[in-house]
Amino acid sequence: MQVVFVVIDALPNQWVTPEWTPNLWELVTEGGWNPRGGKAVLSTATYPNHASFVTGREPASHGIFVNRVWDGSKFVISSKVGPKGDTIFKAAGRSGISNAVVVGDHNLIGVMGAEEADACWPPDGERVDVALDEFRYAADSSVLDAVDTIDLVSADLGFVHFNEPDTVCHLFGPDAEETKERIRSTDAAFGDLVERYKPSWGDTVLIVVSDHDQEPVVEYGFDLADALRQRSLSGVVENEGTCAVVFDGPATETLMTFDEVEGAIVLDAQHTLVWGKPGHVFGPWLDGLHGSHGSPRTSTQVTVVGGGHAQVPVIASALAKRRLNATDWAPLVGELMGFQLTE
Ligand SMILES: [Zn+2]
Repeated sequence: MQVVFVVIDALPNQWVTPEWTPNLWELVTEGGWNPRGGKAVLSTATYPNHASFVTGREPASHGIFVNRVWDGSKFVISSKVGPKGDTIFKAAGRSGISNAVVVGDHNLIGVMGAEEADACWPPDGERVDVALDEFRYAADSSVLDAVDTIDLVSADLGFVHFNEPDTVCHLFGPDAEETKERIRSTDAAFGDLVERYKPSWGDTVLIVVSDHDQEPVVEYGFDLADALRQRSLSGVVENEGTCAVVFDGPATETLMTFDEVEGAIVLDAQHTLVWGKPGHVFGPWLDGLHGSHGSPRTSTQVTVVGGGHAQVPVIASALAKRRLNATDWAPLVGELMGFQLTE
């Protein structure tokens, strides 16, 4: 069996249609999906969800709550720290299952502990000199090239991340024509990836997910750190789009007394997640950005399965019955391929 796990970053579930994603739609009709999608972990940022995809753990267990993590004295990018716990790459390796990873966002190598895979690209999780998207992440065409360079298709377990839909959702908003057009071009790149598996189709299980949705931005600028200071309240604030995480901050009841805070939940003993009204982004104004994520409103993930392997209809029926969580995939892939993640 060959399993390939594809993440299309920020792909809105509503644009998985015959018109905008014809290649993915073919998978939906021949394999299966859940039309309501799956559920992201909180915050609905890219790095916590990728860490959950590969560990099967909630952020409270893998330690990545937003894109940056508290290192004991400050917030640093989570790629420098990586997830706590076992990963599908380590577990597959222990069972002699070859595995390879290609990501559009180079930071995801460190975020997922993917340097442990048999092969990964970009090699050191650093940006490389290839065609990039507007946010300087590898373009979809570069991702496809890298799939060939490291011969990902020969690995038993492949992990591929396409970044461009996230970039265009941020730039134009999730509902913009520009966004839908780019999604169609990412879908074409995805179709080229699928073609590479056609010679071994009967042996292939193809899983396609997104990590989060996006919401249209209506306002920027709420400075929660400053608001806490003005009331002499403690807590280090890390802004993450339409949410923020407060480290060692006040109780949720206190946070909820700020007009701009619409919801607050405890993630672990030291991290509390807050979010504002729809489309309200924490932190300073960023010109030219019209989509964002982070709050629970953007927690819908695409969940599609396809391929010619006999297990595909079994997974499809499980998918249709229940909305899967980001944490469900790692154990599912392990069960399929016969490896186990340690507790
Ligand atoms: Zn993302």
